[in-house]
Amino acid sequence: MLGALARPAHSHRSRRRVSSRHVGRSASRVSPRAAGWFAEPTADVPDAVSADAPLRVLVAGGGLGGLFAAICLRNAGADVVVLERTASYRPFGGPIQLASNGVSVIKATSESLFRRVHDVSRPFWRTTSGIRDGLKGNWMFTFGAITELPDEQDLPFSICVDRSDLQAALLEEISETHACDDENENETQRVVRMDAAVVRYANRADGRGVDATLADGRVVTADVLVGADGIWSAVRAQMFGEPGGVKGAGSTASFTGYKLFSGLPLFKPYYYEDVGYSAFIGPDHYFVTCPDRAGRVQWYGFIKASTPESPDVDDPKAFLETTLEGWAPEVLELIRATDPATIEQRDLWDRFPSVAKSWADGRVTLLGDSCHATMPNIGQGAGLAFEDGFELAKVLKDVRSRSEIPAALRSFYRRRIARTAAVQGLGRMNSEAIKILTPLLPIRPLVEYFIGPFLPLVFRAQFGYCYSFCPQKMDARDARALAEEMRARHKKEAEEAWADAEARGVAVVGVENAHENPALEVLAN
Ligand SMILES: Cc1cc2nc3c(=O)[nH]c(=O)nc-3n(C[C@H](O)[C@H](O)[C@H](O)COP(=O)(O)OP(=O)(O)OC[C@H]3O[C@@H](n4cnc5c(N)ncnc54)[C@H](O)[C@@H]3O)c2cc1C
Repeated sequence: MLGALARPAHSHRSRRRVSSRHVGRSASRVSPRAAGWFAEPTADVPDAVSADAPLRVLVAGGGLGGLFAAICLRNAGADVVVLERTASYRPFGGPIQLASNGVSVIKATSESLFRRVHDVSRPFWRTTSGIRDGLKGNWMFTFGAITELPDEQDLPFSICVDRSDLQAALLEEISETHACDDENENETQRVVRMDAAVVRYANRADGRGVDATLADGRVVTADVLVGADGIWSAVRAQMFGEPGGVKGAGSTASFTGYKLFSGLPLFKPYYYEDVGYSAFIGPDHYFVTCPDRAGRVQWYGFIKASTPESPDVDDPKAFLETTLEGWAPEVLELIRATDPATIEQRDLWDRFPSVAKSWADGRVTLLGDSCHATMPNIGQGAGLAFEDGFELAKVLKDVRSRSEIPAALRSFYRRRIARTAAVQGLGRMNSEAIKILTPLLPIRPLVEYFIGPFLPLVFRAQFGYCYSFCPQKMDARDARALAEEMRARHKKEAEEAWADAEARGVAVVGVENAHENPALEVLAN
């Protein structure tokens, strides 16, 4: 019933950019309206969902999944408040790959958000991605399906977007698509409450709502609580009877056997325009590079680690140069170009699919990494979280009375478990396949001979499955035109950034291409 109750669109939609600072207000300075919302006694709320009594949804966690779910739920007519643990968003992380399925979900949710995201993204269209020999740098296998499938099936192209740009686009969408009736704050500040960590919840004994307790002791009541609080979710820990506040070893997450190092230097490699991403596979480790915006290149070093929670390396640059000694120049030049102080490091964890236990507990559900943390190598974590928000809003839109909520949340779990488990499985399978492949590098020609012919089929099947969640198509001609526009902007931005660096005397130019480059073949077609 929520669809009929959508709040009016903002009458003064400016193109003002909303950045993280727009939501940096502490929850201790709660606006009168938000204070009223938090304090509203549940007993007064009627069972029927109506325009005067829309569903009140609390989202614990204002990451990518939580913010996108808030947009979907608001579009479906719900009154939503997002509770985010951190006091302010800080720009962190480099670009992430948002695959066709995630982009299609954005398009189906909001054309304005689709445009906002594309304004700050790079398309995979007319680029090559694939696996390269970590030591020599030659291409071994390419993933043509990444761009061929969307083109054949009228899907939006996969894109590459900075995590902080994507987050800013989501915040801007929240701010600019609904009116804010409180003159003291903007709509994003009203909806996203910072410095508000959820520590536990309780389904009310009378079945009329859920209480969420915050770290500062306040209790917030709502019709639904969505635990979008990431892989170390407090909501999940309580729901699954796991030890709360425990990260890493001792938690129920699985260590993937890799420690991840990442960097984002300003750099001008020969493949900047032509390559989507390259996975360099070498002995024990693998290294992924992906050109980002504004002349920068993202790299991730997946370094084999036998035990979880190995201490952070003091000098990551020296450590990587030693560990990856003898690797391809394309790998080493990026490490050398990176300021060591900016290199991030973390253990990589994922989770076994939750096939035996539902994510629904009365009025509470989970979403995103809290219920299906996925290996980053498949580039699907954010896309799956977006699909969750989209599906949850669809399920709750059909709820006509509050007593139907527990059943609706159970049906949300049933709709999502098979798909999310399959994608989680594919991410793990890729990771384990790389572990098998790396010792075989000395006999690379044999590996290519025997495996080579099958890999395009395997990749096609894998991408085909991931892209099969597609609520909104896009005509291939329109998708190509948009991608060309993005490519032109991407090139201009990069050239300006490199020229600026060179004018400051900063060397950014990398090695020349000494390999056969399939990117050129792709571009010729
Ligand atoms: C290195 C790396 C690379 C990746 N690359 C890709 C990629 O290319 N493509 C892709 O699709 N995915 C990628 N992912 C995965 C993707 O980042 C996640 O799947 C996605 O961010 C999940 O979103 P989420 O909202 O569920 O969780 P998160 O983004 O982790 O957000 C959780 C939020 O909850 C907040 N929070 C935590 N606890 C509480 C609490 N108790 N109360 C309130 N708030 C709380 C946190 O501060 C955070 O803001 C990558 C992940 C990693 C680690």
